[in-house]
Amino acid sequence: MLQIHQLHKSYAIGDSSLHVLKGIDLEVEEGEMVAIMGSSGSGKSTLLNIIGMLDEADSGDYVLDGLPIKNLTEKKAAVYRNKFLGFIFQSFNLINYKNALENVALPLYYQGMKRRERQEKALFHLEKVGLANWAKHLPKELSGGQKQRVAIARALAANPKLLLADEPTGALDTKTSYDIMAFIQQLNDEGKTILMVTHEEDIANMCKRIVRLRDGVIMEDTKVQQVRAEQYV
Ligand code: ADP
Ligand code: MG
Repeated sequence: MLQIHQLHKSYAIGDSSLHVLKGIDLEVEEGEMVAIMGSSGSGKSTLLNIIGMLDEADSGDYVLDGLPIKNLTEKKAAVYRNKFLGFIFQSFNLINYKNALENVALPLYYQGMKRRERQEKALFHLEKVGLANWAKHLPKELSGGQKQRVAIARALAANPKLLLADEPTGALDTKTSYDIMAFIQQLNDEGKTILMVTHEEDIANMCKRIVRLRDGVIMEDTKVQQVRAEQYV
């Protein structure tokens, strides 16, 4: 699904520069569920953003689904992003003035899908996350867990090959976190490849593989026995 070789990334800070990723090697196969762990500032989001084509590495190779990701125009990057990737964020990133259905339908608009089909597809995905009855509600009328479910439905609407999640449970209480994890595990059971950043051990153990970053280097990369989330919900 993806191959990364000797990836480096620095940020300019005034006159100096901060070397954030220091030669990352990472391969992810189709169907995997991987947690990227590490303390705050270790470069997790930077790595995920590069994988998600939201940011670019300074050097190294990144191949996604057989496609070398390098020197893409913003337009081309947007096309690939839309085609290959779904995103979930800690803070949900829903559009406040759009209702749940409209939020889920938005990526389909960018795919050029007709309004009627967008609505049907968005409703189908809202049903999948158990929120069909909340379609007309605005984000502010939803709980944190419900907002993240809408975000998951939105991420899945365009049927991405890879789902990227940056601390998807970071803003949720434990029970709601496990509820969301049960949902994400179910998606992976159905074959979706998932890469998620977390700094919580219990959440990482609900994945199938843990990659530990420290100061921009992968310290450890191990397969784990997946803890099932549904037993806690
Ligand atoms: P994590 O997600 O593991 O907490 P990040 O990848 O967000 O870490 O950040 C790694 C380091 O890079 C941090 O020290 C952070 O302050 C710095 N950093 C992140 N984004 C930028 C940016 N756009 N400009 C400058 N420094 C940044
Ligand atoms: Mg982060």
